[in-house]
Amino acid sequence: MKINQTIAYFSMEIGIDPEMPTYSGGLGILAGDTVRSAADLGVPMVAVTLLHRKGYFRQCLGEDGTQTEQPVSWTVEDKLTEMESRTMVVLEGITVNLRAWRYDVVGATGHIVPIYFIDSDLPENGDEQRTLTNHLYGGDLKYRICQEFILGIGGLRMLRALGHADVRRFHMNEGHASFLTFVLLAESAKAAGREEIADEDFGNVRDRCIFTTHTPVPAGHDKFPIELAERVIGHHKAFKVKDLFLENGEVNMTYLALNLSRYVNGVAKKHGEVSRSMFENHEIDSITNGVHAATWTCPSFQELFDRHIPFWREDNFSLRHAMGIPSEEIWHAHLEAKRALIDYVNAETGLGMDPNILTIGFARRVTAYKRADLLFEDIKRLKKIARGAGAFQIVFAGKAHPKDEPGKDLIRSIYKAAAQMNPEIKVAFIENYNFTLGALITSGVDIWLNNPKPPLEASGTSGMKSAINGVPSLSILDGWWIEGCLEGQTGWAIGGEVDGVETADDRDADSASIYDKLENVIIPLYYGDRDGFIDVMRVAIAVNGSYFNTQRMMQEYVVRAYLD
Ligand SMILES: *Cc1c(COP(=O)(O)O)cnc(C)c1O
Repeated sequence: MKINQTIAYFSMEIGIDPEMPTYSGGLGILAGDTVRSAADLGVPMVAVTLLHRKGYFRQCLGEDGTQTEQPVSWTVEDKLTEMESRTMVVLEGITVNLRAWRYDVVGATGHIVPIYFIDSDLPENGDEQRTLTNHLYGGDLKYRICQEFILGIGGLRMLRALGHADVRRFHMNEGHASFLTFVLLAESAKAAGREEIADEDFGNVRDRCIFTTHTPVPAGHDKFPIELAERVIGHHKAFKVKDLFLENGEVNMTYLALNLSRYVNGVAKKHGEVSRSMFENHEIDSITNGVHAATWTCPSFQELFDRHIPFWREDNFSLRHAMGIPSEEIWHAHLEAKRALIDYVNAETGLGMDPNILTIGFARRVTAYKRADLLFEDIKRLKKIARGAGAFQIVFAGKAHPKDEPGKDLIRSIYKAAAQMNPEIKVAFIENYNFTLGALITSGVDIWLNNPKPPLEASGTSGMKSAINGVPSLSILDGWWIEGCLEGQTGWAIGGEVDGVETADDRDADSASIYDKLENVIIPLYYGDRDGFIDVMRVAIAVNGSYFNTQRMMQEYVVRAYLD
């Protein structure tokens, strides 16, 4: 591949600007970080996503932790530039006209990666069609298949309309964009002078597609009833080649991507293994996720790195030189980040948290497998630890998907536990977890807690954000932490590594392991051997910050997936 040939990166969500609510969680944040690192490295890339005018949602929490959702409003024109090109798709026999808005991501050395946000809100469309791109993961299955058709087919047609004839490879970030293969199949048939798609088109398309899967459970993969698909998108000529996407009588977006990609990967080594066991007939590699270092490093550590490691933004690997930064300077930078968080928490909650107390952070999408309430399995024991080993306080945040009732119950149960813990142990649940709050929490706590049911955490990235800010993890050995944990050096493991790919959910053993580590290792280290604690912070930056970043990740994609 010539380096002047472009990679088109398709993602249903891209979190690129804290003021643009065009992401819901980890997938979108990763997509944004991916694009930023491509820009830093000068990778020729264009990105395509949808314009979510109403965003994901703003979370409001009632007295008892009951979540309600409000739309987020933002002014598209303030952030994006409208392009003149237009394209269209047909859905249920109705034409949907589409436009694109451009956002330029400028890399560390000035290279630009444009992101095109596809928008159906045009006056020439019907009322229903105008709202199709509004809500991220909103609406019913029909809304969802329409959005995926707009992303894959509308997005690729828009690239053509914008003049991007040079796209060599298409990278599908999760299965939501798999319909782009329909356009490539049709183009391949047309180039061969055929009306209908034939087997030889499959190879042509496969040579150009890359697929990253993020979901370690079969139920998490996008599927649509065949009758619905037939009605909405059945007119497309690729819909006749049912072998490509039909699985158990449903349109399966993952199978479509698997069948038509030359390179497929999971997002951590363990997730690669789990994915190979789910899709036995496919070759699946793994490239472990990362975070964009400069974006997720808090101001005080940016200043510290700028002084000690001058080229860390252009060369994230040089963060290994954190090994030479004196302890007092690391602690000072950390306290600044911690004060910023504690001030915010106190202003939000009036809890009067103290920056001198060991602070544990837990923030992520609230959904059953992440077990946000695991820490409260034995509240008596927690209180005993706080009285004996030393005080600690806890900061939570996280949104549940509007339709995830068990997730919403989890937030209420954390509120209940918090009421039982206060005032001996202060527990705060901060509303509306988003980009900005994520940056504040991952850098401002002393310990980053993560306790999903293994192996359901495909990768996890918030612990990587913490590491870069010198915040060690206390985590289940799952996802990236299997690769990132050096016990007692970069952080601590909860329990041992689970063999194989079956889901484990031993709440008693896992919570006991958390209590043991807190009581016997972490709290004594924090209060009794501050220099020893700072040594762990330093190694977290040097070993994990220098590796679990999207610069290293993007280089792996270039070498293994993008180049021939
Ligand atoms: C980093 C981030 C995530 C992803 O974190 P995980 O560890 O994968 O759960 C989700 N939401 C926001 C707002 C983030 O900043």
